[in-house]
Formats: sequence, C-alpha cells, structure tokens
Amino acid sequence: MNTQTSPIPNTSSITPFRKKINYGLTKNKITVLQVNLGRKCNLACTHCHVEASPKRTEELSSEVCQQIIEIINRFPQIKIVDLTGGAPEMNYGFEKIVEAARAKEKEVIVRSNLTIFFESGYEYLPEYFAKNKLRVTASLPCYLESNVDKQRGTGVYNQSVLAIQKLNQLGYGTQANLILDLVYNPALPKDTNFSLTPNQQQLEQDYKAYLLEHFNIKFNNLFTITNIPIGRSKQYLQRKNIHNDYIKFLESHFNSGTLSHVMCRNELSIDYLGNIYDCDFNQMENIAATDSSGKKITITDLLEANNLDLITEIKTANYCYGCTAGSGSSCGGSLT
Ligand code: SF4
Ligand code: SF4
Repeated sequence: MNTQTSPIPNTSSITPFRKKINYGLTKNKITVLQVNLGRKCNLACTHCHVEASPKRTEELSSEVCQQIIEIINRFPQIKIVDLTGGAPEMNYGFEKIVEAARAKEKEVIVRSNLTIFFESGYEYLPEYFAKNKLRVTASLPCYLESNVDKQRGTGVYNQSVLAIQKLNQLGYGTQANLILDLVYNPALPKDTNFSLTPNQQQLEQDYKAYLLEHFNIKFNNLFTITNIPIGRSKQYLQRKNIHNDYIKFLESHFNSGTLSHVMCRNELSIDYLGNIYDCDFNQMENIAATDSSGKKITITDLLEANNLDLITEIKTANYCYGCTAGSGSSCGGSLT
C-alpha cells in the first residue's frame, strides 16, 4: 500500500488545535443528523472509538427515539440521517428511525459491521436494507484476511465477504440507488514509525481489483479514515507510550485546506440520551455542543427552539488533528 511515513517526531509540545486554527471553527447550516443509537455491538474491535461490545447495554429510549423522529419530520433542512452505534441495527429505534426518514425521502446511511447479518434474529437485514434503499457503509479495514481478523476478530473477514456477496446479489454496488461503501482504517501503530492513511483513490482501485478477482465482489466507494486517538485507540497508544507522539505526528501533517470540509461543520451528533455534540468523536469524549450562552444543548432544546442551528462555535480538541492531517478524514473518507 502507498503510505507516507515519517521518522520519529521531535518531542516539542503539541500546539493546541484551537490555537492552530486561530481560535474557532464555526458551524454551517445543519444538513446531517448523525444518531448514535447505543453501545450494543456483536463485535468488540480493537480500534473501536465507541468501546462498543456485546456486553454494553446502553441504547436509545423510546422518548428520545420519538424526538429524533420529530426532528426528521419537522426539518426539511436535514438531508441525510446517518445511523451509527455500536451496531445500529441491534439498538432500540433502528427501524423506526429508518422508516420515518425514508418516508420523508432523506438519504439514510447505516454504518453496518456486516457480520450482524449472521447473528440470530438479524438475518432479515440485507433484504431490509435493499427494500428501504439504505446507503450501506461498512468497515473492511483491509482487503487481506489476516489484517481484518487481527483488528476485528477471527472469522470477521470471511463473514464480511459473504455479507457483501449477499448485498451484491440484491443489487448493491451495481444499481444506482443501492450504494455500498467500504471503510478502510489503518492498523494502530506499534511504535513511532507513524504513517498517514494511504491515498484513497489508489487504495480503492487496489481493493476493487482484489475483491473482484478473489470473491467477485463489487462496491461503490472506499473511504479511508484516520484512527482518531480517543477510546480504545487512545488507551492503546497510551499503553505503548506513543499517544503524544501520534498527535504530534498528525499535527506535523496539519492541512488547513481540510477545515472547510470537516464533518462537524454541518452535522449534529445525537447520543442515546438525546444530548447534542458536534461529531461522534466529541460524543465519545463527552464534549457537548453548546449554544451562544455556553449552555449544553439537548434534543429537547432543539425542538423547543424550533431551530437546529443553535451552535455557533464547534468544540475542538487536539484529536481534531486526526481529521485535518494530510488529505483529511471524516465518516465519508478523505476530505481533499
Ligand atoms: S463493529 Fe464498529 S461499533 Fe462494533 S466494536 Fe467494531 S468498530 Fe466498534
Ligand atoms: S474530531 Fe473532527 S469532526 Fe470532530 S470536532 Fe474535531 S475536526 Fe470536527
């Protein structure tokens, strides 16, 4: 793979991200609603920033689910409803939100780990996705089996291949309204020989050629995503004593050209309790979005104000260097 490597970074201190961007990143008009339905997942991947697993029980309540549906129904400015988790399909409210959003003709993205198709009670999902024309975004952190299983668990690669073949049979990857995107994220570094994510276009070609040749698989786009140093990734980097070095490395590749494209500019991220954040990473770090008076915003506030655009300034942190290094990174892949 075509990666850009760097020697050991120097130990000078990290420039706070907020200072780097001259104190402030403003919010644009909200068009994307990303809902984190809960922490339940059938997997427990090493890189998971949500720290999801089969043991977690936190999920959406019926009250918050109803409020989310009210937002979908009331605000035509929302064009995309992006469902994540955990495994979103395992958490309360998944189908209710899907069907409400599709009834309003929103684009609905489901961030699926694909292996959920093989869990008892979830076998219906591929047909359900196709029937509702969900855009499927699925993690496949490498096109090689050993790398995937190391990161996500034994057998995950083979199940993912079978799941993609099933989606292909239903028209995903070939029909215009059945989009299947795959997500690449690099393995976590073992030492300070860090690298940026590979070139997205080139890697997409490599994935497509390999998966077509070996499994007759087709998909639409590959998104390359940088490991953001939070959650399990942060704990891992801290155990290796390279957390600060990693952030320093990302900072050394800071690209101001990504700032106008970072996903937090036009997105609201909602947690299972109805709290509002600028992005899923801030949600996991419990850095809530605030209004102009500094008050934390909840979904109830949005509905009472009848206004989705209450946030003036995005809350940033040093892990934002992960979104803005090199070509940049977001839930939709590289930014520039
Ligand atoms: S499948 Fe996704 S949500 Fe589940 S543990 Fe893995 S990275 Fe986390
Ligand atoms: S982590 Fe990325 S998406 Fe979230 S606030 Fe920072 S730059 Fe924006």
